[in-house]
Amino acid sequence: MKKVLVTGGTGLVGKALEAVIKEQSPADEQWYFAGSKDADLTNLAATQALFAREQPTHVIHLAAMVGGLFHNMNNNLDFLRNNLLINDNVLQTAHEQGCVKVVSCLSTCIFPDKTSYPIDETMVHNGPPHPSNYGYSYAKRLIDVQNHAYHDKYGRLYTSVIPCNIFGPHDNYKPEVSHVIPGMINRMHQLVTEKLEVPESEKVFTVFGSGKPLRQFVYSLDLAELMIWVLRNYESVEPIILSADEAQEVTIFEVAQAIAKAFNFKGKLVCDTSKADGQYKKTASNAKLRSLLPDYAFTDFETAIETSVKWYKENYDQARK
Ligand code: NDP
Repeated sequence: MKKVLVTGGTGLVGKALEAVIKEQSPADEQWYFAGSKDADLTNLAATQALFAREQPTHVIHLAAMVGGLFHNMNNNLDFLRNNLLINDNVLQTAHEQGCVKVVSCLSTCIFPDKTSYPIDETMVHNGPPHPSNYGYSYAKRLIDVQNHAYHDKYGRLYTSVIPCNIFGPHDNYKPEVSHVIPGMINRMHQLVTEKLEVPESEKVFTVFGSGKPLRQFVYSLDLAELMIWVLRNYESVEPIILSADEAQEVTIFEVAQAIAKAFNFKGKLVCDTSKADGQYKKTASNAKLRSLLPDYAFTDFETAIETSVKWYKENYDQARK
């Protein structure tokens, strides 16, 4: 019997994993989804106590200090230190307690700022990250270094996945930390439900920045299915990009349009170019994933946005906002 511990099990990706596992109900696996109430993973003793209690054989390591562009820009030191501590505590404790496999989570936003596109798995360390999120990026990059070191010294199969921007039910909608999609969903919901003197068609939704940057998104439920596949079938220490196909890349303005459609918003969308854009693009290649899983069907972007907006409306009271 595999015993799988998911760190960060209460977050966006953790909740998606929980939903997929509930549906699959695998007979030969027991899953435990840990949140920060189970253990503060920046603390070694608390991390060790969690592992001693749960006795996992396998770990999906999601726990991290996570935030959008503006949160990162102001808090690089905290992103660096908290994530370094969490990753070191989790990987070393997993090793000491004999876990045979750990799948950790990097991100496409940790790749070098100046690079050629599409980005692939071999380029993680090829130059400094974008200055806006260097704390988060270097902490994440070191997971890959640690994985190789545990493999070289102890033969451990500790590996990592590299998702692009993730969205879905149970996202973090807090304005000061949110990523672009939950941030827009939250603001659009406010605008749509606000009682203004103006008619609906004259309401204005502001897109931060020029609206032109290109982004690749992956729906959290798709990512969860792919991560479970990695846990069960992917036998390499080298990272693997888990991202929708390059053809599914969208502009930030198109994201706003999809969210407006899901809310049935009839007003105007305008871009505030005084706000930062971040990297213009960070197109990642999922060729490695496609070579292993050629037929995986990603959920259509608009459908996934519709489902995410529906979840937000129905769970407004419990959503992190
Ligand atoms: P969330 O912010 O939704 O969830 C973060 C999770 O980490 C929560 O379960 C939280 O616990 C837990 N956590 C945070 N700090 C601690 C701590 N000190 N001790 C224990 N647990 C802690 O993140 P996501 O689900 O979005 O992200 C999951 C992974 O995916 C992360 O590693 C992230 O870096 C990566 N990623 C995310 C992307 C995105 O677009 N969201 C893009 C690419 C990669 P609790 O809620 O109980 O406090």
